[in-house]
Amino acid sequence: MATLSTNIQYLKGVGEKRAQLYGKLGIACIGDLLEYYPRDYIDFSHPSSIAAAPFDKPCAIRAKVVSKSPEQRIRKGLSLFKVLVTDEQNDMLVTFFNAKYAVSSLKEEEIYLFYGKAAGRFNRREMASPLVFPNDPNLAFSPIYPLTEGLSSKMIAANVQQALSVTDGLERDPLPAVLRENHRLCSRKSALQNIHFPTDETALLGARRRLMFEELFYLNLALGQVKRATQKESAAPMKPVSMDTFYSLFSFTLTGAQQRAIGDCLADFCRSTPMNRLLQGDVGSGKTMVAAACAYFAAQNGYQTAMMAPTEILAFQHYQTWSKLFQNTDISVGFLSGSLSAAAKRQVKEQLAAGQIQIIVGTHALLQDSVSFCQLGLVVTDEQHRFGVSQRMALTQKAQAGQFPHVLVMSATPIPRTLAFIIYGDLDLSILDEMPQGRRPVKTYLIDPPKRERAYGFIRKHLDMGEQAYIVCPLVEQGENSPEGLESAVEEAKYLAQKVFSGYAVGILHGRMKATEKEQVMADFQSGRIHLLVATTVIEVGVDVPNATVMMIQNAERFGLSQLHQLRGRVGRGKTESFCILVSKRTDSPRLQAICKTNDGFRVAEEDLKLRGPGDFFGLRQHGLPAMKLAGLLDDMALVEQTRSAALTILQSDPELSLPEHSELKKRTGQMLTTAGA
Ligand code: ADP
Ligand code: MG
Repeated sequence: MATLSTNIQYLKGVGEKRAQLYGKLGIACIGDLLEYYPRDYIDFSHPSSIAAAPFDKPCAIRAKVVSKSPEQRIRKGLSLFKVLVTDEQNDMLVTFFNAKYAVSSLKEEEIYLFYGKAAGRFNRREMASPLVFPNDPNLAFSPIYPLTEGLSSKMIAANVQQALSVTDGLERDPLPAVLRENHRLCSRKSALQNIHFPTDETALLGARRRLMFEELFYLNLALGQVKRATQKESAAPMKPVSMDTFYSLFSFTLTGAQQRAIGDCLADFCRSTPMNRLLQGDVGSGKTMVAAACAYFAAQNGYQTAMMAPTEILAFQHYQTWSKLFQNTDISVGFLSGSLSAAAKRQVKEQLAAGQIQIIVGTHALLQDSVSFCQLGLVVTDEQHRFGVSQRMALTQKAQAGQFPHVLVMSATPIPRTLAFIIYGDLDLSILDEMPQGRRPVKTYLIDPPKRERAYGFIRKHLDMGEQAYIVCPLVEQGENSPEGLESAVEEAKYLAQKVFSGYAVGILHGRMKATEKEQVMADFQSGRIHLLVATTVIEVGVDVPNATVMMIQNAERFGLSQLHQLRGRVGRGKTESFCILVSKRTDSPRLQAICKTNDGFRVAEEDLKLRGPGDFFGLRQHGLPAMKLAGLLDDMALVEQTRSAALTILQSDPELSLPEHSELKKRTGQMLTTAGA
């Protein structure tokens, strides 16, 4: 008998090759497979008639094969098969491409279920490349899974079917029986059975509810434990100080939104409970200035600030900006990252512990045990969605015993209120809904690859005016396994430097370069020594070079919408009009067209949510939380509340989850915290 942790290859039909495909979906063992939920179901319980088949969404039609026309060769490698079917009222022409085997297995005079999108005129319906199922009267719902090339929903369903029947231990339910009774939850085994193969709608809803409950329950247990640890502490007490000196450090005036956000934070610093604030603002809205004001205020109160950024490049850039900003003050800014020499690291750590550094900017390196502070009062995390819950915790634990630092989390990703509530509990929110004066929206264009040469001409024109540009590629290097037609940064840079932009300084930046090399390239780009920077997505977040006005993104279809918006945010940061050119064969893509139409990050995020498949529906993973496996869960605020109070009740009686009956919960909760921190 297999168990949940048995390797997936135990299952029939799963050899090394298919196991590899499963690996791509994050499925290694039987337990993973059982928790790989369908993204949708084909509903065979209400088949449509041919006449009533809708045009806008796929449907199932039960129909008999009347005749099959012989194979038609359209061109080399493409052949067409036509099959005429009838539901005894109307006929429908079904076409298949390159489907010799599938079509030959269809028998004339036999009834099948065809699932696809109908088209054609009223008296002549058509359906192209439908899925075909045997006419099984017991088939109510057939699962559709998120796929990868080489795996079909049919294959996955067969493997799941077998897994459900051969796996030992499915009867053991991690949720305590009382809880299941109180919340009317079905057993885990029946939930798994019905999420994959629901017998009817009610069974499906019950299964979803049970599994959603479980996920949210673990999440709430995990967050509850984190929060219990923080709420015992009191804040680093601060007093109001004059900010005039700070405001004289730079030439522009802050936006009203920035002033409000700073006001929110400074008021929080003077309270006895630690601040827990999310600063949300679209790319370019000036979040860094708000953080700088907070750090200044903390320093005047004798407290240190730790500013943590998700990438080396970004951390170093903040370090440079802040060193310059504070150069004529008594505030000293330090930098710490994994790439520093051992000696340099040691020195920074000593200065930090001795209180000679007031603001430390760095990467994950700040989390190391060997890093200690003299008086940590404020923790800022930039673009926080790259950090997990446990990492944030690690940093905040470095404060004085009995004193909890204030926490400011900055993010360009808009989070729905309800989601924020789950992630941060009782956090406060400041929003920068105003752009600095004089910003002009980035003009975004979508072009197909043949137009690229013309676009290069456009870039040259801007370089000639003294401006700078980025070209973003999805890959670092062309490898053996990289799909054809994908631009790689290394090759692209070589080609561009030698051919297209021979008179210009072309730089290259990607994640596999050494940190010192990256810093040098960024510094050269910042100072204008490099005119054109060819890069991978390492430049995605935060990089700030206001003189860069054009960005070209190769293979734009490979990127998520929010990611494209982040990338695009690297231009349009100065007063000069800026452009973003998306290059893609998929000029008809609604996603890519959507991002050309709006510069508003909130709109982009909304669009992204709408178009993104479930699994990471609410972008939880981006916020440092494990992706919930069931989509739509946050629609159900009642369930969120129920799981929250159930979790709190358990934690009250057993804070460490150390009772034997909670051992499975403890394990799952621990997993949740580690994936969240990964
Ligand atoms: P983000 O919110 O994306 O982190 P940044 O803080 O990097 O944005 O700010 C983007 C650019 O705008 C920086 O060059 C910064 O110096 C500048 N900036 C910030 N606030 C203002 C302002 N009020 N007026 C003009 N420029 C500003
Ligand atoms: Mg930023």
